[in-house]
Amino acid sequence: MSRYSALSVFTNALKGNKSWPRAWRDPEPKPEYDVLIVGAGGHGLATAYYLAKEHGITNVAVVEKGYLGGGNTGRNTTIVRSNYFLPGNTMFYERSMKLWENLSQDLNYNVMFSQRGQYNLLHSPGQIDAARRRGNTMRANGIDAELLSRQQVQRDLPYLDYDNARFPIHGAILQRRAGTARHDAVAWGYARGADRRGVDILQKREVTGFLFDGGKITGVQTNRGDIRAKKVALCVAGHSGHLAKMAGLRLPIESHSLQAFVTEPYKPFIDTVVSYGAGHFYISQSDKGGLVLGGDLDMYNSYAQRGGLPVVEHTLAAAKSLVPGVSRLKLLRHWAGVMDMSMDGSPIITRTPVDGLYFNGGWCYGGFKTIPASGYCFAWTIAKDEPHPDNAAYTLDRFARGGTIDEKGAGPHPNQQ
Ligand SMILES: Cc1cc2nc3c(=O)[nH]c(=O)nc-3n(C[C@H](O)[C@H](O)[C@H](O)COP(=O)(O)OP(=O)(O)OC[C@H]3O[C@@H](n4cnc5c(N)ncnc54)[C@H](O)[C@@H]3O)c2cc1C
Repeated sequence: MSRYSALSVFTNALKGNKSWPRAWRDPEPKPEYDVLIVGAGGHGLATAYYLAKEHGITNVAVVEKGYLGGGNTGRNTTIVRSNYFLPGNTMFYERSMKLWENLSQDLNYNVMFSQRGQYNLLHSPGQIDAARRRGNTMRANGIDAELLSRQQVQRDLPYLDYDNARFPIHGAILQRRAGTARHDAVAWGYARGADRRGVDILQKREVTGFLFDGGKITGVQTNRGDIRAKKVALCVAGHSGHLAKMAGLRLPIESHSLQAFVTEPYKPFIDTVVSYGAGHFYISQSDKGGLVLGGDLDMYNSYAQRGGLPVVEHTLAAAKSLVPGVSRLKLLRHWAGVMDMSMDGSPIITRTPVDGLYFNGGWCYGGFKTIPASGYCFAWTIAKDEPHPDNAAYTLDRFARGGTIDEKGAGPHPNQQ
């Protein structure tokens, strides 16, 4: 497979762009694989890529029921940051940030990673104290963080409402290395990178059950025939509970819809990512000019990739109270993804009690930013049958041991709030 370069763009342009090779193959499945990954979202594809690149394991298949990148990876609002407070999280998210910073070069694919900075707004003295603690933890671990006063925020983000806001802005915590990336390109880049190392990506093939031999998983059943594998790894996001149940495993995960919105294109005026601290709302501007908005979950369990109108109203009300100028814009599209919400808000990357079955999920609102580190650590876990130090805390049994990683401070029983 050819490398992408300025020269290849030039020579292909001379030939009318008719000679580009396919970015990945469409192979028939082999009878057996060393590792079979279910789900060709960012996490499944990155895991396949790092299995091949870091561990030399290339007899790998990624089985996808739809098309690759068609799940949450292609539906998210693309915020990438590493401003996490708790041990277990802090260095995992920073590993991801470091991988992002070299991802386009590593994949030979432009993922359009744009480190435009993320401002987390603070609306009370209590929030400033909490942000100071978080920022100090980050800086003690070598991660960039800045605490800004109200005046500094006003200078940087003049379009916010400072005079009539229901929750006045007291300041912000800023991570300058945070930003956004092009979500489809991330899936495509990892797919191409895995494929060129020999990984088979099998699209339009739904896993419907598992093959067992004496209690050990030996492959999967699909709607187009069985495929045998020595190890099976789940990366199916909102379908985690459903698939794990087929293998006899009950997970501490619920599925919920999460919506996102984009407005008609507009002149550049938001050149960063801004998160509201008094409600669940955030905003950025895409390279095409559309404002990208996100809010909270629909708050009832669902496998439907569509959301309800109350969240539309809630999100747009937050947008208008924070950035009054958006009230003149038209919404172009809104959509939803099915989120794998873990009970403490932190992910799970682990071997499971089912012999031969490995699990990656529980990404909640934030699994796009983690795709590189998650793929890296999950590949390590599968290859070596033990966790990498950065995912050692993301076990399944932490819920039984009381070892939850409760970054939001919501407790391990979100349904009891
Ligand atoms: C609206 C929205 C906004 C978000 N914003 C952000 C953000 O700003 N920043 C951030 O970090 N994260 C964000 N996220 C979260 C992030 O998108 C996800 O955590 C991440 O993309 C999950 O990737 P994944 O590979 O685990 O899942 P997916 O991309 O959903 O991939 C899972 C794949 O598994 C496949 N699958 C399911 N069942 C089967 C089966 N039986 N057989 C075969 N294949 C199957 C699906 O078709 C799918 O392609 C957001 C999510 C949404 C929905």
